[in-house]
Amino acid sequence: MNIKVKNIIKDLDLFKNIYDIIRIVDPITKEVYDTVFSDSYNIDILPPTPNNFCYSFWNRDEVCENCVSTRSLKTGKSYVKIEHNTLSSYLVTTSRVIFNDTPYTLELIREIHETDVITSVNSIDYINIEQKLIDLNHDLVIDSLTKAYNKKFIEERIPYNLEFYKKRNNDFSLILCDIDKFKTVNDTYGHLAGDYILKEFVDIIKDNIRNKNDWIGRYGGDEFIIFLDNSNLESSIKVIEKIRLKIKNTPFHFENNEINITASFGLAKPNKNDSYESIIEKCDKNLYISKENGRDRITY
Ligand code: GH3
Ligand code: MG
Repeated sequence: MNIKVKNIIKDLDLFKNIYDIIRIVDPITKEVYDTVFSDSYNIDILPPTPNNFCYSFWNRDEVCENCVSTRSLKTGKSYVKIEHNTLSSYLVTTSRVIFNDTPYTLELIREIHETDVITSVNSIDYINIEQKLIDLNHDLVIDSLTKAYNKKFIEERIPYNLEFYKKRNNDFSLILCDIDKFKTVNDTYGHLAGDYILKEFVDIIKDNIRNKNDWIGRYGGDEFIIFLDNSNLESSIKVIEKIRLKIKNTPFHFENNEINITASFGLAKPNKNDSYESIIEKCDKNLYISKENGRDRITY
């Protein structure tokens, strides 16, 4: 499909005075359909150039954690964030646009110059500011207690992972896990002990999944989602079984108490018809079976 910025913004001249880059992105596949630069807005990158992903502009080889395009797609609202590549800092504004009945995101990108509101940007060491921006964007998608990803991240990332799987056959496993009888831990040892265990629980899982592409997110309360990238059923079960045993055999020490817990798991594999809701539902059903069958187990 040939999607042009100029077909979406009728008066491009107005925008080119304000923004340095205007581009159309598919917020699910992350492909860039068309880009214009304010200084020579006739330069077109024709759609969709292979491997021309929105995150390449940020010198990344993977999707941004804090993806405001996906957020715009989901809510229909406009979002703003500050990002950084090795050259400069940029203000990014996103908005959902509909083209041929299909939603895309329009990204308006403006370099932050010395004369802009953030006057000190260029006087700060680049490494410094880059790290600050990475931290700021990271914090927006992180659960403050456990440091697992938050629900917002889960809802925005799984549709992307599903699309990647459908287009590239990038197999993955999704696991919903829940601490067994966690209410009893709170009731017996107090809420602070419960908080401590939630943090330790996430750390154990992080230690047992791969750093790149695998992730854990807090779905809510004592429920977490684990994403295992490029992992078939057999190897996923191995990973989860290892985690299950580690949790069962780890004594958690809080104040003068030694606390033992177990957790239950529901694993699902994607199929080509799956949506975010349907794959979560499969995990949920399997988790329910694990609980019904006596907890401390995996169902798949
Ligand atoms: P089940 O084996 O069926 O999962 O039993 P459960 O007791 O774990 O299930 P339930 O859903 O009844 O309880 C979940 C508990 O998790 C209740 C709530 O107090 C606790 N919880 C949720 N969020 C937090 C939190 O941030 N900190 C602490 N300490 N507890 C939390
Ligand atoms: Mg529970």
